[in-house]
Amino acid sequence: MSFTNTSTMFKKALKGKYAIGAFNIDDLNGLRAVIKGLNNKQSPGIIAITSGSLNFIGIDYIEEVKSIIEKESLVPIALHLDHGKSVELCKQCVDLGFTSVMIDASSHDFEENIRQTKEVVEYAHKHNVTVEGELGAIAGIEDDVNVEDKYGQFTHPDQAVEFVEKTNIDSLAIAIGTAHGAYKFKEGQKPQLRFDILDEITSLLPDFPIVLHGASSVPKDSVDLLNQYGGNMKAAQGIPEEMLRLATTKGVAKINIASDLRIAFTAALRKSLHDEPAVFDYKIHIGKATEAITAAVEREIEQVLGSKDRALDFKN
Ligand SMILES: [Zn+2]
Repeated sequence: MSFTNTSTMFKKALKGKYAIGAFNIDDLNGLRAVIKGLNNKQSPGIIAITSGSLNFIGIDYIEEVKSIIEKESLVPIALHLDHGKSVELCKQCVDLGFTSVMIDASSHDFEENIRQTKEVVEYAHKHNVTVEGELGAIAGIEDDVNVEDKYGQFTHPDQAVEFVEKTNIDSLAIAIGTAHGAYKFKEGQKPQLRFDILDEITSLLPDFPIVLHGASSVPKDSVDLLNQYGGNMKAAQGIPEEMLRLATTKGVAKINIASDLRIAFTAALRKSLHDEPAVFDYKIHIGKATEAITAAVEREIEQVLGSKDRALDFKN
């Protein structure tokens, strides 16, 4: 099945009250593992690559990435630049054949964020590439909320409307309490998402695709396996799956998943190295670890995204 941008995916996801998973990959093994999981569950999906992962893969090998997607995917797949930190990088990725890019200018002030995002949108739309912008701080848990302001570091609903109108973006990443990485909440702190802010935003922007970053659920069995075989991620904590599922029914059309895949890979790699200490043929170990990525993708589709069998909707 051919590449697609995200526009039809998000329309269908909003209508069907499910979300499209954006799965971060770091190499070609990870790419093939994600495609396999999507194929097995007949789910549309997004292959997300950060600039760090792009460097790791090698920017000259993007043709291989595209070729693998074209050859192996049986479902609609978008190739997406995650957290493009400059207008130039976003334009470069459009030229390389990405079908979707994120311009993350959220660390700039509001006006500058609008200016940079708008510039990317104008360029990308000419090439039929969809654009995600970000507003608000999807930061660490340490940056505590300013109690003087109801919205604090979170996305301000009125600003979200102005941002979408002025930039003409296709989807918006918002901050409602998610955080990047595997340690999303302080030890003993109850996971919490600001559904009140999400509801305010979606009531002002009906049928507009909202994106959640930092939304790995950090499954306990996966972390336990990693710790059992010599890892040390004792205080890891993610967003509970039921909260993410609820978000998919409230206008969240895209959920980013990076940490969960990395934890699954590392846990399986540790177990394989432990179970077969005499094996030095690394394709055995890497093979098992990438199989765990496929299993993690399948789990997200079933437990969180609700996108199983939704690729079938694209056939007519
Ligand atoms: Zn992110």
